[in-house]
Formats: sequence, structure tokens, C-alpha cells
Amino acid sequence: MGEGTGPQFASPDSGGLAATLTPLDDWLWQNQDCESLLIKQFGVRSLDGYGLTGKAEAIRAAGSCLRYAQETQRAGAAHISDIVYFEPQDHLVLDNITVRNLELVEALGGGGASRSLLDVIDETVTGMGARLLRSWLLRPSLHRGEIEQRHGAVAELHASHVKRDRTRTLLKEVADVERLTGRLNLGSATPRDLVALRRSLDQVPQVREALANSESSLLQVLNEACDELADVRTLIASAIEDDPPAKVIDGGVIRNGYATELDELRSLSRNAKQTIAAMEAEERSRTGIGSLRIRYNNVFGYFIEVSKANAARVPPDYERRQTLANAERFTTTALKEWESKVLGAEERILQLESEIFGLVCREVATETSRIQATARALACLDAVSSLAETAIRRRYVRPAIHDGGEIEIVHGRHPVIEVFNEEPFVPNSVYLNNSTDRLLIITGPNMGGKSTVLRQTGIISILGQMGSFVPAERARLPLLDRVWTRVGASDDLARGRSTFMVEMTETAAILHSATPRSLVLLDEIGRGTATFDGLSIAWAVAEYLHDSPEHAAKTLFATHYHELTELAERLPGAQNYQITATEREGEVVFLHRLERGRASKSYGIEVARLAGMPPAALTRAREVLQRLERYELDVFTDEIPSEPERAVAVGADSSWEENRALSKAAMRAGRRRLAAQASLFDLANQKVVDELRAADPEELSPEDAKQLLRELRKQIL
Ligand code: ATP
Repeated sequence: MGEGTGPQFASPDSGGLAATLTPLDDWLWQNQDCESLLIKQFGVRSLDGYGLTGKAEAIRAAGSCLRYAQETQRAGAAHISDIVYFEPQDHLVLDNITVRNLELVEALGGGGASRSLLDVIDETVTGMGARLLRSWLLRPSLHRGEIEQRHGAVAELHASHVKRDRTRTLLKEVADVERLTGRLNLGSATPRDLVALRRSLDQVPQVREALANSESSLLQVLNEACDELADVRTLIASAIEDDPPAKVIDGGVIRNGYATELDELRSLSRNAKQTIAAMEAEERSRTGIGSLRIRYNNVFGYFIEVSKANAARVPPDYERRQTLANAERFTTTALKEWESKVLGAEERILQLESEIFGLVCREVATETSRIQATARALACLDAVSSLAETAIRRRYVRPAIHDGGEIEIVHGRHPVIEVFNEEPFVPNSVYLNNSTDRLLIITGPNMGGKSTVLRQTGIISILGQMGSFVPAERARLPLLDRVWTRVGASDDLARGRSTFMVEMTETAAILHSATPRSLVLLDEIGRGTATFDGLSIAWAVAEYLHDSPEHAAKTLFATHYHELTELAERLPGAQNYQITATEREGEVVFLHRLERGRASKSYGIEVARLAGMPPAALTRAREVLQRLERYELDVFTDEIPSEPERAVAVGADSSWEENRALSKAAMRAGRRRLAAQASLFDLANQKVVDELRAADPEELSPEDAKQLLRELRKQIL
């Protein structure tokens, strides 16, 4: 930017967005100009009151946006009446990947937004309430007071069926006042917009009545913030018809009795028919032509029509206008005069209506800030009522928010899966803190529910912090600064990045930025590369998050690498959890229950069966597995068994080549696993060696030396 004005050009794809860039002059971004523009817009002496002191970049950004709005909107940007500095530290941060992985506002895998969290919790009845709820979900609060105020309001509306129902019924009659006000200020409001505004504001006194005697401080504040705007309602009611046409030029917008001149013109125009009938009767008797008629068309206006047979009887003051096959058409001076009065009246009526409508709009627009404040209060009321309604419908409970570090969710549920899944949902409890339980390694079979536990923990935390009740029996939640979610091997082909690269880039971001107040959900990290690489990365990531003083976030780590369970046994802040499954009559039964301990089996073939793999392929997979497991025991012998030995061991029907191949595969896998365990063992113990090397025996007191020994012993595998 800043290269002087130049031609517009369409930029090539930039991150999937095709945009048009318009270079503008540098001075448009100068701080001084932007500041003056904002000061003028808000009618203040300085921007300090908006928390913009010293925030030069923010002032330049806001000033430039305002200038753009002023230049591009037909009626300027008068309705922009406030500016709020967005402090990232006021909100729990959710990046796009987390928003997508947790399916907060849109479901993954297409199908529109039919199964997003927002769909489940959104019971708002106004457009502005829906927008506010969405913004609470995407930017949950970091202020305990604000969160608890919302919880308090939800609790009161949750407890009082009457209050909740009454409020929601009234709000259903409220239109999108925020947008209506915008249109009003942009000069694009229609007569129906004004009526919709009046009808919406008509609800306010009753809404206030419904909120009277509320205990919740937020409901009291909202009651206060709702301006009944009697002046605005009366103005619109007295000026605008109840059911006006869509456009002012269609006429009939301004109510009778509002403007005297308009009333008179209307009466003139309304009485036209009677006047015509009277004139017609008079001309008939004057001329003695019984069939004489006064008619109207768009080309000639009003005219007197006489049949050809009677044409000779017309009086001399008739002026001929048109001759038809069977009739002659005339006009008279009196008819012309009357016509210009009537036709002028209709034009004038439309002109007057449009002038009056404009005046009413402008008058209402002068009350924009009062209307906007009321709109904000109604939106907030809609959002908390929606949360209360959801809490009732879905059996959510009020979480306790605290300043400590623990997350304690008793019998939590995934709010979306519990609604859409055919099978009953199995609730699970999760406990995390910043000391003994800060890293939970979760193993278990495919399809067991590992990802679900991760996601529901994140979602419950976010719901709690946005001010909602949560799907659990009980919950104690800390104030999180950030929730991170990363899923291993997730594709981002649309943006042209390899799967593994995506996974690593995302993981790197977490390791750089997570804090002890963050919640990190890692799902199968490391899966996108070869076993050793992946396992090593997963190991290092888990260890980093556990050990790093500034990045030790509360972490749930779902993994297929059973080797990681070794890590959990060694690290003081790590715990092993497993999702349970059992076998019944040879088939796996997923219990979906989270328990302490590590999983012993992965049930991959059973999942393949559920996925509909052909029976022949399944039988073969079971056979191969059985034999691999048996051969794996031979890992310490380097020899490939001879044919007769193998035939005895695995059955005579297997070919020698096949046995040989399977043996080799099993031995290789077994050795790798042993090597992995050995190297992980080394890796873990290396730290002990390093610490031992760093300790200076001359400097240590006997007591310190003992203590060091105790700690090092704890660490060795
Ligand atoms: P994978 O390892 O294959 O990614 P996973 O262990 O992460 O699987 P999820 O994706 O969490 O498993 O769950 C698989 C399915 O199991 C879910 O779509 C859901 O239908 C069901 N499920 C998960 N948890 C529960 C639960 N607690 N109660 C009932 N059904 C559940």
C-alpha cells in the first residue's frame, strides 16, 4: 500500500481468497488524520475514553475502516457510534483450527452446519441474539465476574419457567433492531422497516415488566439498559400506517391525520370519482346526450366521449381531442382545470409522503444510540434465555468457575454426539490440574471414544467460559487462556500443505505459545509419519508440554503409541487413562468408558469388520495377526525357521514362502519394538544421567544428596 493511486487489480489466490487490491495514498493512514476522523465521528475531544491511548496502530486501522465506510456508503456512516478496543487478553483464544476441530460453528465433513455445537445450543429467537451467542462461543470471556453474571442470569431463567417463557415469547416479536438501525442511518430503510422497529420496541415495556424483581445482577442491568423509547414508538405509530407497502413510492405510507396538507390532497383525490360522476351528469343534461361519458386514459388523461351518432350535438366549447371509429373524444376548459388539480394532487401526495417519511426516518435516527443500547440489551437477554432453554432441554448444569488450575468434570457428555448418536451416550469424568494430573495419555481401541473425550473436555470448558451451563453432572472449571486442538494426519489439501507438514506446523505453534493456563488437546499427534519418527515426536511433544515451566499446559493426549504409556508412568505430572472395550462372543464391545490405566489391545480388525470389510479379507487379517504374534516370540533368534519346523508350528497347509515372509515381518516388527522400547528407555534415562553429571558432590550437603538420589530414582524407568 502507499504507492499512490493506481489501477485496481485482482490479486492471485492469496490463501484461497481472490481479492481486489486498490492501492491508496500513504496519508490516508496517518495517525493524526485517522484520530481526527474518529474524534469527529464520535463527537468527543479525545479517544482516551475508548481505551485507545497510545494505540497508534489501532487508531490507524479504525480510522481507515471508518473512512472506507464513509466513502462507500451512500448515506455516510452516521450510525457508527461507538468503538471498542478488542483486548485478546479479555477472551479465551480459539484459533481457526480449534474452532474447526471442535466443530463449534460448523460440522466437519460437509453437510453444512447441521451438527455443529452452535446448532445444538442455539435457541435464540432473534437475529441479533443469534449473532451475540455465536460471538460468545467463539470468544468466551476471561473475566470471572462477567462469566458468573451470565451464569446467574441463566440460572434464574432456568429456574423460572414463567419468566423464561414470557421473555422468549416477547423476544420472538422483536426484529433485527441492530440491522434496522443500520439501514435507517444509511437512508435505505423502508416503511416496513420502520413498522418492524416500532413493533419490536413495543415489546420493551413488557420485557421490562417480565424482568422486574429479577435477582440476577445481569437481568437487572438488562432491565435498566432497555429504553422504552416511548417517543420513538409514538412518532412511528402516529406517522406510519400499520401495514404499509414495501416502498414509499407505492403510496399509502403516511397515516391520515399526521400532516394536514397531505390529508387535503388525499381528500381531493379520493373525491375524484364523485366529482367525475357529477360532471358527467351535468354534461349529459347540458348536451342532452344520454350516452355521454367522462373517461380516463394514460395518454389523454380525462376526456368526454360521445358516440359518432351524437357528435353533431356537442356544444361549441367542446375541444376535439381524438376521433375513433365509433366515437369522438373531447375536453373542456373546466375538465382540463380539474384534471390538472387532481393529477397534480396525486403527484404531490407521493412527493409529500416521501418527504415526510424521510423526516420521520431522520428523526428516529437521531435516537440511534438509545435504540442501539436497547438492541444490545435485548440481544443479550435473548442469548442468556437461549442458554437457559438449552440447559433445560439438554439437562446441563451450572459449572463452578474458580481461579485455580483444576478442571474437574464429573460425568461429562459430548453435547453434539449425545444428541445425534443413536446409541445412548456414556458419560465420562475427567480430572486435570497443574501438578499431578497435567498430562493425561489416553489409549484405547479405534472407535473407542478417545477423540470424543478430548473434544468434550474442550467443549465443556468453552461452554462454561462463554457463560453457558454444561453437559455434565457437575463441573469445576478454571479460567483458561486458550484451548488448542490438534489432530494428527488431518488433511489440508485445499491449502496445498502436506498432511504431516500441517500436523507439525500446528504442533509447533502449541509448543511455542501454550501456557499453564491453556488446555491442549492432542489427538494422534505423530501419526502422519513413519512409526519411529512419529513416536519420537509424540514422545518429545508430550514431554515438552509436561516439563517446560512456561508451556506446561493441561494436556490430553490421545495416542495409538502404547509406548507413550511408559512415559506417563515416569513423569510425575502424567497419568495413563484408557478407553475401555471388552469382547463378548468373539466380538468387540466398545464400552466408551474412560478409566485409569493403559489399554492392552487395539481391536483394529474388529473395527475393520464394523466398517464392512469383506469376511474373506477379515479372516485373512486375523490369520496373519495370529501368526505374526506367534512369530514375534522368535525375535531373539536370528534364524529363519526351516520348513519342517514351521510346518509343525503353524500348520501344514501354509506354504514355506509365506511362512518365511511372515517370520521376517514379525521379527523385524519385534526388533523395532524392542529397539523403540530400548531407545525410549535410554531417552528417558538420559535425563537422569545428565542431571547426575550436572550435580557437584562437593557442593551438596548429605541431605541434598539424599534428596537428589530420591528424585533421580523416581525418574528412571
Ligand atoms: P479413532 O482412534 O479411530 O480415531 P476414537 O477412539 O478417537 O477413534 P471417537 O472418534 O472418539 O473414537 O469415537 C468413535 C465413535 O464412538 C463416535 O463417533 C461415537 O459414535 C461413539 N462414541 C464415542 N464416545 C462415546 C460415548 N462416550 N458414548 C457413546 N458413544 C460414544
